[in-house]
Amino acid sequence: MGRIMLIAGNWKMNGSRAGAVNFVQALAALNLVPRPEYALLICPPATLIGQMAAPLAELGVRIGGQDCHQDPNGAFTGDISASMLADLGCGYVIVGHSERRALHGETDHMVRAKARAALAAGLTPIICVGETWAEREAGRAAAVVSAQLEGSVPDGVDPMRLVVAYEPVWAIGSGRAATVDDIAAMHRVIRAGFGGKCGDPEGGLILYGGSVKPSNAAEILALDLVDGALIGGASLEAADFMAIVDAAAA
Ligand code: PEP
Repeated sequence: MGRIMLIAGNWKMNGSRAGAVNFVQALAALNLVPRPEYALLICPPATLIGQMAAPLAELGVRIGGQDCHQDPNGAFTGDISASMLADLGCGYVIVGHSERRALHGETDHMVRAKARAALAAGLTPIICVGETWAEREAGRAAAVVSAQLEGSVPDGVDPMRLVVAYEPVWAIGSGRAATVDDIAAMHRVIRAGFGGKCGDPEGGLILYGGSVKPSNAAEILALDLVDGALIGGASLEAADFMAIVDAAAA
C-alpha cells in the first residue's frame, strides 16, 4: 500500500463552541467511514480543542493545534506549549504557517525550535513552507522554499514523525490554488530536500495547501507527490471538508 494521506483542516481564528457542536454533528451525519488510505485531522482554535477532542476521536478524526511555543512552560503570557496541546489530546501541531511567519515575525529558526518542541512532546509537527507571489514572479520560488525547508525542519529526525506542508502564500485564502504543474514541480523540490535532510528519500508526508476546495481537490490529490492537503476555509463546513476527503479517496 502507498503512503497514507493526511487531510487536515486549519480553522485559524474561527469557530465557537456552538459551531463546533454543529460541525461534529454534521460530520457524524455524513456517516464517516474510517478508511485506511487516509487520516483526517482538524486543527481548531485552542479554545475548542478540549471540547472537540473526544467527539472527533469517536469519529476517527484526529485533532491538532495551530501553533505552539518552543518552551515546555514558563513566563510566556498568552502562549501554549506543545505538551499542553498533547495534554488536551492533540497528536499534531501546525508550525510556521505563513500567517505566523508574516504577522508574528516567526523565522525559520523559531519554526525549527517549535518543531523540536512538538516532537519532544510526542506531537507530529506540520511544518509550513511557501513563497510569496513576488518571490514566484522573480523566479525564486524553489530557492525560497528550499531555504525555508533547510532552516525549519530539524536535522536527523525520522521523517515519519514530521509533515511538511507546501503552502504558497499567494494561494492561501485567495481562491486561486497553484496549478497542478507548479504543485508537482515544488513537491519534487521539497521531496528532494526533505529526503536529504532526513536521510530517507521516500519518508514523510508532503501536503499541499492553498485554496483547496471540493472543486479542485481531486486533481491536486491525484498528484503522485502530494500526500494530502492542508485546508483553511473549506474545512469550516463539514460538507466541504468531507467532499475533499471523498476526492482523496476517489
Ligand atoms: C491555510 O491557511 O493553511 C490554507 C490553506 O487556507 P485556505 O485553504 O483557505 O487557502
